[in-house]
Amino acid sequence: MSVKNEKTALVTGGAGFIGSHLIDRMLEAGYTVHAIDNLSTGSLDNIKHLMDHPKFTFDVGTILDEPLMESLISENNYVFHLAAAVGVKLIIEKPVDTIKTNILGSEIILKYANKYNNRVIITSTSEVYGKNDKTPFKEDDDSVYGPTTKSRWSYACSKAIDEFLSLAYHHEKKLPVIIVRLFNTVGPRQTGQYGMVLPTFVKQALLNHDMTVFGDGKQTRCFANVKDVVKSILKLVDSSKAEGQVFNIGSQERISIEKLAEKVRKMCNSKSKIVYIPYDDAFESGFEDMAQRMPDTTKLKKAIGFVPECSLSETINEIIEYYKQ
Ligand code: UDP
Repeated sequence: MSVKNEKTALVTGGAGFIGSHLIDRMLEAGYTVHAIDNLSTGSLDNIKHLMDHPKFTFDVGTILDEPLMESLISENNYVFHLAAAVGVKLIIEKPVDTIKTNILGSEIILKYANKYNNRVIITSTSEVYGKNDKTPFKEDDDSVYGPTTKSRWSYACSKAIDEFLSLAYHHEKKLPVIIVRLFNTVGPRQTGQYGMVLPTFVKQALLNHDMTVFGDGKQTRCFANVKDVVKSILKLVDSSKAEGQVFNIGSQERISIEKLAEKVRKMCNSKSKIVYIPYDDAFESGFEDMAQRMPDTTKLKKAIGFVPECSLSETINEIIEYYKQ
């Protein structure tokens, strides 16, 4: 392989849950990877098994450090931008950081990716659909947000701005950028520390602690296995037809949060009690949750020939094994 054709990539948020799984697969696929992470929600534990890999290097750093980003982007030919403030709980607690990291960070990435001719993946989120109650969501469905006085919407809006900016770079400057809207992604290495439900339930069940269902538990989600998700991202990145496009990535296996709690409890042989916590107590007063969130993945399937389809039971088993260790 010539040096010019060698796949060298910068992965931002590389010590995060999804970032670390992405890098595992990239190294298997022959990429040379440099990762950066500010370790705010990521952890060195997620990448410690890679530290001796000859094609992997890592820096602790922030995407807001412009000289660092310019230097790293100039040395690579791909950027996978995953660094972001994530998790509803964190976003409510630290709204300034959320807005700054998500918007300024992405602007820096796009600016230098454009300057140095990199291919770019921008990771976005199903949150951008906001409280639109349509199901399933198609990529061109409306975003419906609540008032600016409710800080949870700052996350959705900040990621929507990232998408606008990415599409603008594609439109105006022909930057080869692809936007992936990730729906609930789960698997080993995800922590419940920032509010994510599945690792929280598994930990609670294994410890026979109360399992905390927020609201009435009738809200539904579709949980995709992180391995399927990163496989989809790596297929998309090399598709020239995908440039300047948005893709939903997620599972279509729907489950209510109440049923999820029961399923996890059963699979863990747990004696936990399932308790219901009002949203106002779990988050902020007046918190609005989405009643349902399912992706339409037709566009993804057409582009890459498959969609995430690992079963929820299989994924829960992987998470249980991870926490048992
Ligand atoms: N949830 C819950 N108990 C928890 C954590 C979350 O019932 O301990 C609920 C949360 O209110 C939401 C769903 O589980 O309805 C999924 O939450 P998560 O934060 O994993 O993802 P979201 O879909 O909100 O981005």
